[in-house]
Amino acid sequence: MNLASIVGVVLHPIEEWYQSRYPSVVITLHQHGTNAMARIASFSKPVFVRAVTFELLLRGVEDEVKLNQMVAPHGQIDCPLTTKILRDLVLTADLAVSVTYRTPSGREAKSDAHIFNLVGSDGQIIKVKDSGNYLSIGKCPACGDETLFANDGVTSKRELEKRKKAFENDMRNSCPDHESARVKYWF
Ligand SMILES: [Zn+2]
Repeated sequence: MNLASIVGVVLHPIEEWYQSRYPSVVITLHQHGTNAMARIASFSKPVFVRAVTFELLLRGVEDEVKLNQMVAPHGQIDCPLTTKILRDLVLTADLAVSVTYRTPSGREAKSDAHIFNLVGSDGQIIKVKDSGNYLSIGKCPACGDETLFANDGVTSKRELEKRKKAFENDMRNSCPDHESARVKYWF
């Protein structure tokens, strides 16, 4: 192990913890005419934003927009939803939005994936909500049965992963009757 790798091992987790506590970028999603716009803002430091990723959860449709743009402190960039995402939205879906960026220290980083709910169709957005409001699929670890649960109120993919794990644990414990788990995770 050389010095650089030792420093990397020590510094990387510290930097990750710092980034999660004091994120370099803040992602929000706003209704804009008949579309929705992701806004990437930087509060304290200049950040070089490489790309925005949109993911329609459950449908598994993903699209990336390359930005390669510097955001000054207290500045922001807006990025509308892509045609691919708009075309795949049928009535409602939860959307995860994340960005890849370069920090002032030169590190390539990926933000948390924030979750929003979209309502719309025919390529138009009617409503945007600041948290999940649709569905995900959980799989019983004991029998392999797949069941839907609600994403209600979930604001990041990390939170959604936690809820999915808890749901699947409940399914395992109640297997083969998954009704009690379903009721608990259905809002
Ligand atoms: Zn089961």
